[in-house]
Amino acid sequence: MPAIVVGGARAQSASPRPPLRIVSYVFRVALPDSGGAFAAQAVVGLRRAKAGPDSLVLDLVGLTVDSVTAPGATRAARHGRRPFAYDGREIRVALGPRRGAGVETVTVFYHGAPTDGLFLRPDARGRPSAFADDWPDRARDWIPSVDDPADKAPVRWEVSVPAGWEVVANGRFMRREPAASGRATWIYDERRPIPTYTMVLGAGRMTISRHRPAVLGNDSVPIEVWAEPEDSAFADSVPFRRATEIVETMERLVGPFPFEKLAQVESSTRYGGMENSTAIFYPEQPYVARRLTEGVVRHETAHQWFGDAVTERDFHDLWLSEGFADYFAVVVGAALDGDSVMQRGMAGLMRGYLRSPVVGRPLVDSAETVLTRLLNANSYNKGACVLHMLRRTVGDSAFWRGIRAYYREYRDSSVTSADFERVMERAAGRQLGWFFAEWLHQPGYPQLDVAWRWDSAGHRLSIDLAQVQPAAWGRFTLPALTLEFSSGSGQAIRRTVALSSARQSVQWDVPQRPTDVRVDPDGDWLLTAQVHPQP
Ligand SMILES: [Zn+2]
Repeated sequence: MPAIVVGGARAQSASPRPPLRIVSYVFRVALPDSGGAFAAQAVVGLRRAKAGPDSLVLDLVGLTVDSVTAPGATRAARHGRRPFAYDGREIRVALGPRRGAGVETVTVFYHGAPTDGLFLRPDARGRPSAFADDWPDRARDWIPSVDDPADKAPVRWEVSVPAGWEVVANGRFMRREPAASGRATWIYDERRPIPTYTMVLGAGRMTISRHRPAVLGNDSVPIEVWAEPEDSAFADSVPFRRATEIVETMERLVGPFPFEKLAQVESSTRYGGMENSTAIFYPEQPYVARRLTEGVVRHETAHQWFGDAVTERDFHDLWLSEGFADYFAVVVGAALDGDSVMQRGMAGLMRGYLRSPVVGRPLVDSAETVLTRLLNANSYNKGACVLHMLRRTVGDSAFWRGIRAYYREYRDSSVTSADFERVMERAAGRQLGWFFAEWLHQPGYPQLDVAWRWDSAGHRLSIDLAQVQPAAWGRFTLPALTLEFSSGSGQAIRRTVALSSARQSVQWDVPQRPTDVRVDPDGDWLLTAQVHPQP
């Protein structure tokens, strides 16, 4: 999602997960003709290790569990109703002895009026609608799940809705089955494992616009724009005009689109955009006000690769999702519209970070327990700057080789910052521990004091560089810091210095006394510099 956020904050659960893995979900959801309550079934497929647990614990908050079915205790005993315990936060189901390494299924029948996660309410024009909004841990407010980004799974949706409603959900559209009284069931199938925080449905009266599919080799990805009928023409022609080109640019830079289709959906999300796998949700107000722009579309689209296909194992590594999305929003913008987008975009991200209240905290802030507070300028702006600086450190070809390898290797799984570091080290053919230690784990950024002196007799320019940031931030290494000297006449002269110490002095032959000395003129590094002549 983009950086603007409202709403509540829950602490991340610290309890370790048992050696049990969810391998599939099927959600059968019946949305009501009116009112805020729904009824549903969740079929949860799981695999257990040999010495795995003898019970399944699912997150589900504040609803009513009617019954649970599971395999019987013996081979002869049929799948049937089993006792369960539900305390309003977790469902516990006894599994009986494990028989073989196969998939076991547990079905939860439940109903209720969710207070979060799924919102049944009128759209901007007063028509009934239903939209889920799960980040970071609100999937559990409406679907029984192991609600943890480390446990991704494929998901199938079977959503029954009143007459006249359209339904969008994760994955490929399979079919629409008409039923009695005008109702219909829409079936979607997402075969790739996705995080629960992106498992969504959206339903209501919508206009579906099919754009040109994104094509890469023999692969073709359907691109759809779903909007309220009044907003459809605006959506097609302004924010999503280049929805296909954005996907194709990401494919060229990073690798194939990770899923079966991409729907860009007007919804009731609380976020400025929410990167649900294959069905990105945007809030309706910017459509109604006709001010939704392409920047947010590039950000959310980039999340399909980074966040959805390659998912942070732990929310403290949120920069692997948000920093990447912010960076690729700029990179894709530059690929479509030219390099000035890159410079302007990075300068904006740096400015936003420098004036944020989190500069004194490390980017990977393990001490933060409130997940929504991780939606900050460290995860977003500084995360994007880290990628840009890494690119400057290892060079373009190693950077892109590394990014593509990282996506290829970790697509469909969950990762840590250390996984990314390892792939980039391999691509660059050198140790980068120092880089990640300084930028992910030290707070702050280099604050430079740059004093210069020109010797008119020898035509020598002497420069003293000092890192003057607070001691608690530590020291930074800038492998290639550019300095630019201009005088009234002639071309500006550029020289590069490898900065690694707290204090460093350099001297160069410069024919004229500079009238201006600039540090990092291209904005390659996240830093501030005070430049002044020495008497
Ligand atoms: Zn985002």
